[in-house]
Amino acid sequence: MQALAVEHALFRDAVRAFVAKEVTPHVLDWEREGEVPRDLFQRMGALGYLGLRLAPEYGGEGCDFRYTAILVDELMRCGSVGVPVSVMVHAEFATRVIDRAGSPMLREEFVRPAATGARIGALGITEPDAGSDVGAIRTTAVRDGGDVVINGAKTYISNGTIADFVTTAVRTGPPGNAGISLVVVPSDAPGFVRPRRLKKLGTHASDTAELAFQDCRVPLRNVVGHENGGFRLIMQGFEGERLVLALIACAQMRLMLDEARAWGHARKAFGRALLGNQSWRHRLADCTTSLAAAEALTREAIDLHVAGAECNGTISMAKLFATESALDVARTCAQIFGGMGYMEECLMARLHRDCLAFTVGAGTSEMMREIVARESGFLPGAGDA
Ligand SMILES: Cc1cc2nc3c(=O)[nH]c(=O)nc-3n(C[C@H](O)[C@H](O)[C@H](O)COP(=O)(O)OP(=O)(O)OC[C@H]3O[C@@H](n4cnc5c(N)ncnc54)[C@H](O)[C@@H]3O)c2cc1C
Repeated sequence: MQALAVEHALFRDAVRAFVAKEVTPHVLDWEREGEVPRDLFQRMGALGYLGLRLAPEYGGEGCDFRYTAILVDELMRCGSVGVPVSVMVHAEFATRVIDRAGSPMLREEFVRPAATGARIGALGITEPDAGSDVGAIRTTAVRDGGDVVINGAKTYISNGTIADFVTTAVRTGPPGNAGISLVVVPSDAPGFVRPRRLKKLGTHASDTAELAFQDCRVPLRNVVGHENGGFRLIMQGFEGERLVLALIACAQMRLMLDEARAWGHARKAFGRALLGNQSWRHRLADCTTSLAAAEALTREAIDLHVAGAECNGTISMAKLFATESALDVARTCAQIFGGMGYMEECLMARLHRDCLAFTVGAGTSEMMREIVARESGFLPGAGDA
């Protein structure tokens, strides 16, 4: 345990130094450009940061989620939430499922270059008419000889414009959850198009796009795992994705409280610092308490996940509580900045608007509540009215 703690500390120090030197100085440019540059992925790949949870046989590091948690925490220090979003969508959301369930050929073709940052990934599940209800997706993939031919559309896809491959949910069977497969679509596949980059309220360094598949042809071997086995893979993948978003929300709250503390001490009104007012001290104490509770729940969820225990309910609670708390903390911390809290140049203002994405992405708060309700025995039974 001691040795592990030392390893974690060394890893944290290394990532912190990397972020301070090679990420933070550039984030305002990346926010303006609407995407992180390809060479960030290559640089992080060379340092082993993209393959933390990927298999060593395919260029990964074979580490557990605790290393991912350290990476997210440290990337968040750059202050541009789109950066960890883009990196984690690539490494955790799009690639890990191929590593977990893909054939050796598929892992060689996509996992190995994803670990080095040579190929960037996206995860394409949401459609214009199906978001929370994954079982309602309509994009079809039909076998044609040794290929599958894909038709349909995806929306709100992070990394959509920069991705070299999209791990895509398609319908290969009957309506509902049992007819869904995951297929890896390279961006140079014939019939793959990116009609539109979407303009978002926040997380500006992470690009988001609509995708379309027009008789898009990919080899049958690009199906991940079993045909019609995609729904289970998507649900399993949600564990890591929701933990990442809970971690991002906790890190946002830490940054916001640091900003509010510094501002509250420095800014004077009516002859004294804002924190000279008890009301502000108490409001920020409430925020600090929310952060501590979110961190404790997230830590518990990570421990269960790393131990391989059943933790869908705990992860959902962590994601729900952390992302909803971040909205409340953002409102308070932005308020202490007064007018400055509404200016794009102000980190607090950017953190405030960036929070809004996380009660929606990777399962909305309502879906998290539904899972917690189910796991807690609150779903109506046959005898209920
Ligand atoms: C910034 C950003 C990045 C994203 N990146 C990706 C990505 O990379 N890949 C990807 O596939 N998707 C991505 N998404 C999409 C995201 O996963 C979906 O937006 C989310 O799952 C919700 O789906 P929806 O938008 O279709 O909302 P809907 O499912 O239409 O829901 C609308 C509202 O109704 C509520 N609702 C729905 N059903 C119920 C119910 N039964 N009971 C109560 N309330 C209900 C929802 O909670 C929500 O509040 C991203 C979204 C955002 C905002």
